[in-house]
Amino acid sequence: MTTQEVINLFDKYVIGNYSRLPKVITRGKGCYIYDTDGGKILDMFPGWAVSGIGHCHPKVVKAIQKQAKILLHMDNTFYTELQGRLAQLLSDRAFGGKCFFCNSGAEANEAAMKLARIYTAKGKYKYITALGSFHGRTFAAMTATAQPKKHAGFEPVLPGFIYVPFNDVDALQKAFDNEVAAVMIEPIQGEGGINVATPEYMSAIRHLCDKNQAVMILDEVQTGMGRTGKWFGYQHYNVEPDIITLAKTLGGGVAIGAMMAKPNIAASFTPGTHASTFGGNCIACAAGIAVIEAIEEENMLQNTQEIGQYAADKLNQLKTKYSIIDHIRGKGLMIGIQLKSPGVEIVKNCLAAGLRINCTQDTVLRFMPPMNITAKQIDSAIKILDNVLKDI
Ligand SMILES: *Cc1c(COP(=O)(O)O)cnc(C)c1O
Repeated sequence: MTTQEVINLFDKYVIGNYSRLPKVITRGKGCYIYDTDGGKILDMFPGWAVSGIGHCHPKVVKAIQKQAKILLHMDNTFYTELQGRLAQLLSDRAFGGKCFFCNSGAEANEAAMKLARIYTAKGKYKYITALGSFHGRTFAAMTATAQPKKHAGFEPVLPGFIYVPFNDVDALQKAFDNEVAAVMIEPIQGEGGINVATPEYMSAIRHLCDKNQAVMILDEVQTGMGRTGKWFGYQHYNVEPDIITLAKTLGGGVAIGAMMAKPNIAASFTPGTHASTFGGNCIACAAGIAVIEAIEEENMLQNTQEIGQYAADKLNQLKTKYSIIDHIRGKGLMIGIQLKSPGVEIVKNCLAAGLRINCTQDTVLRFMPPMNITAKQIDSAIKILDNVLKDI
């Protein structure tokens, strides 16, 4: 089918809840995607970080192919080795937590919020979340997402949510009362514009949750699985959360979500309290195991730290050339370029020149390339961005 024929199908049969770029993608390999018009695009935002170790990583593909011949899906009426092994691999890399598997980031956050309520119980029901956060699109996750534009048209949202400015310790302290069940934040706000939590803020959340017997939830859907150069974003700080949620890179391109909780808290989810039909699916778990193995075998955490620094240095050099760039921020390969004016045109022109990046909150360009990207590929991306900025 031609590009236009596919777009026509969407116009007629697919609900228009996304603003799509006018390209039809046919395949992907590593840092590149290919379209119907013969275009090859350097992908610095692969699957919104779902394809975080590159498109069609051979190890993930092989694991899926192997498992597909054995068993595609088994429900949670029984045990499967793959689900148990993936939980063990995650637990060993975090805080010895126990896992619940689902299919997306929003579902992982729903599970975390439910668990916090049933665990704290006795009159505790409120959640504190941060302005500019993003936690997903289901009703509770949307309500937790403290951005008015994401609620527009869907009111009334759920009761019991308190919104505080991000990184503001005083505001957090004032928002607390003994009805708070949980605080949920992202260690680095992704969709909110790559806003990095300060160490003081993280410590304050831990302290206030302990003091008020509330649960500390970190939404690591975007920061998790190595994106920041450590397995999980919280590991850059001197705190341990009670619950983390994961998705995106966890499946390397396959739909999977996970909520990991400290064992004493996890114990509140007894049979009948929560479930997911597809959760712990064999293909998804096989992919998740392969992702973790690939990250370790190919030293991707170290690469993410080193190449992340390399990319940030290069971007800071661009900053000295172009006054539209205000500053660069982020950790590892989760990089934001704060502009002084809107970035849509830049994203469009980069794509026309063969580079995919993202723009969030109007003025923040987002770079989140595969964690195995090379310095040479970063150079190509910077060169395209340089040319685009020159013309603007
Ligand atoms: C993407 C994202 C979500 C939502 O994940 P879905 O899989 O789209 O439900 C939640 N939290 C954060 C931090 C995200 O980046």
